[in-house]
Amino acid sequence: MLHAITNDEPGRIAALRRYEILDTPMEGAFDKVTNLVRALFSVPISAVSLIDQERQWFKSIAGLDVSETPRSAAFCDHAIRQDDPLVIPDTKDDVRFRYNPLVTGDPGIRSYAGVPLRTPDGYNIGSLCAIDTRARDFPAEQMEIMKGLAAIVVEQMELRMLAERDHLSGAMTRRAFVAEIDKRIALFVRHQRPAALILLDIDHFKAINDCHGHPVGDRVIEAVAHCCAGLSRPSDSLGRIGGEEFGLLLPETSETEALAAAHRFCAAIEALDIPHDPPLRVTASFGVAAIGPGRMTSQDWLTAADTALYDAKRSGRNRAVLAPIEAIRAA
Ligand code: GH3
Ligand code: MG
Ligand code: MG
Repeated sequence: MLHAITNDEPGRIAALRRYEILDTPMEGAFDKVTNLVRALFSVPISAVSLIDQERQWFKSIAGLDVSETPRSAAFCDHAIRQDDPLVIPDTKDDVRFRYNPLVTGDPGIRSYAGVPLRTPDGYNIGSLCAIDTRARDFPAEQMEIMKGLAAIVVEQMELRMLAERDHLSGAMTRRAFVAEIDKRIALFVRHQRPAALILLDIDHFKAINDCHGHPVGDRVIEAVAHCCAGLSRPSDSLGRIGGEEFGLLLPETSETEALAAAHRFCAAIEALDIPHDPPLRVTASFGVAAIGPGRMTSQDWLTAADTALYDAKRSGRNRAVLAPIEAIRAA
């Protein structure tokens, strides 16, 4: 296996960020691996831990109800600093960990085995780990299996990065959607073909998660995506820009037509009965920006639509706002 690059923290953080995985929802593929580790090695806790600048964040954690910890307390932060797996048969015998708050307090870690998650370009971005609350060995043959599972986790992250479709909503991933925006800009530059971008964000979505739980929140995201896909034309693109935020790219569409479309989407989402007992209702806010001067990069065009979306939020939500085309500044 490729040796780890252990002396380039900015490069390591950039490698981690390229996966666009931090703070994303749970995904079955990663949970299957942590559940396997628990079953295979009879440990109570297993995690896919990613080491960000100041925290370790868990893409999957089985057997413990936390989503992140400070980096300073993270065992996995030690695992990523070396080439080989980190095995600690008894934390009480190890001066590095004896006084760690996760050893002296909850969950009372007594033994640990972590295999670095190494990217194809050699950065350790996190680890796949097995944790026990009693002292124990992790024999070499078990560690070989863990290494294989860690390689599967990295491959899954690679596939996820390349994916064109978001698995929850069926919409394009942010990456694929931005590529589509870039194509539209190229067509505008070459043939002056009009196009419009609509961004929408579900209103007060956090309250739905808080009141009904995350899985119900997921159903709401699915329902909104399905509603938008059903209303759009075959030539339109729907992308999931963030958690509860979507983008619609409308080729050959003027800003007036795009604003009218946003009003239709807005009314349709408001009228949607989302299956639940009793059925749930949501609204969304919209920002609309036609292609034009000052919007010649995907970043600038998205920012124009996002500013209009922010205005829609600020002025009361459940509405659409059009971004004014900025006057071209004299040189
Ligand atoms: P606003 O009207 O201002 O948009 O308020 P909001 O509550 O919708 O916005 P906020 O950004 O505060 O909250 C969005 C929440 O969406 C926070 C995050 O935990 C949740 N979220 C992000 N992705 C997902 C997902 O895939 N599934 C679920 N269920 N929740 C998600
Ligand atoms: Mg929102
Ligand atoms: Mg949002």
